[in-house]
Amino acid sequence: MTVKKFLLTFNPEIAGEPITYRMVKDFDLMVNILRAEIDEHGGRLMLALEGSGPQIQKAVRYLEDSGVNVQELKEFIRKDDTRCTNCGMCISICPSSAYQMDRKTWKVLFLNEKCIACGMCIDACPPGAIRLRTQD
Ligand code: SF4
Ligand code: SF4
Repeated sequence: MTVKKFLLTFNPEIAGEPITYRMVKDFDLMVNILRAEIDEHGGRLMLALEGSGPQIQKAVRYLEDSGVNVQELKEFIRKDDTRCTNCGMCISICPSSAYQMDRKTWKVLFLNEKCIACGMCIDACPPGAIRLRTQD
């Protein structure tokens, strides 16, 4: 089983399409919606797809054929260690425990694989050491 995160951007014409329903039914994938923003201009949906690699590929092809812009989120957050003061604010705010204090060095570590791309840590970091990163 593979888990991949994606950012889907779509226009108002297809905003009403039952995308998550089709992911589950037609492609046998588990869908976890991480973030959704929909308005009259369209929408952005951040989700995690869990299933076999080929099924995820087929689902992505279906989305693209339907007019959805699909961007894989290999890395959502970038922590700049040169700016980080190890204050620990991100540890207390992150809902998925993607930040942890290294008890030997007392430095805050970022564990990318735990990040669910909620974005809450970005504004919470006092020195602005956490940035959004959606591309390699
Ligand atoms: S909130 Fe920012 S400065 Fe504080 S530990 Fe986290 S990344 Fe470092
Ligand atoms: S984006 Fe959300 S889940 Fe990811 S590290 Fe920041 S607070 Fe944690």
